[in-house]
Amino acid sequence: MPRKVILAANWKMNLTMKKSTDLVDDILNKMKNKDNCEIILFPSFLHIPAIMEKIKGRNIGLGGQNLYFEEVGAYTGEIAAFQLVDVGCTHVLIGHSERRHYFHEDYETVNKKVIQALASNLKVMLCVGESLEERENNVTEMVVVDQIVSAMQNISIKNLNDISIAYEPIWAIGTGRNATPADAAHVHKIIRKALGRIFNTDAAAGISILYGGSVKPENIKELMAEEDIDGVLVGGASLKAEPFLDLMKLIN
Ligand code: PEP
Repeated sequence: MPRKVILAANWKMNLTMKKSTDLVDDILNKMKNKDNCEIILFPSFLHIPAIMEKIKGRNIGLGGQNLYFEEVGAYTGEIAAFQLVDVGCTHVLIGHSERRHYFHEDYETVNKKVIQALASNLKVMLCVGESLEERENNVTEMVVVDQIVSAMQNISIKNLNDISIAYEPIWAIGTGRNATPADAAHVHKIIRKALGRIFNTDAAAGISILYGGSVKPENIKELMAEEDIDGVLVGGASLKAEPFLDLMKLIN
């Protein structure tokens, strides 16, 4: 079965309620209905219900940028998986490098979040990627495989339909530098091989692996030309309608 092509927007801690809902209006008004690419928006938690109202019936996924791994209870300031589902989320981003770095999310935390998300019927987009120092020390493959193996602990093969991976080299996020398509594709192959060892080759062949890191209309075509790149996770270029609509047009 061909893998799903995914265009995902990570709005991070940007935009007011008005700006994010205006952005959604703009995208919805101008986008052609495409069924050959899945679109997923990851806005601020606060804006999710308003955006949900706008995208109803439009075949667009909506997700949280994070969740907490406990099911429910006294965890002040945290957001539970069931609360994301309750307001219409279909997806959640887990293990983004900004969370691993600024909020010290370790392998175990990321794994617990993946388990809770799947148990709550959310689709997981798991982010992995190496730092510049790790790349320069030639340990990219080891780092990325460790991130995959640890995040997939106690995950059953039947959950794989609900998992996608985003490979985001940290040095390429928000910096304007991006990995060459060949470099990115090489790491995507390593990730798929690791998934094959954990589950099996057929199952791994069905998982969408996205690239993220300074993706823009100018470079998406060459990235998507690589066989193992199944979509993109976009930060900066998803904050305005025009580049995001261009990405939609160019993705396949
Ligand atoms: C991201 O942080 O997920 C990302 C890919 O950001 P940018 O496109 O701005 O590099």
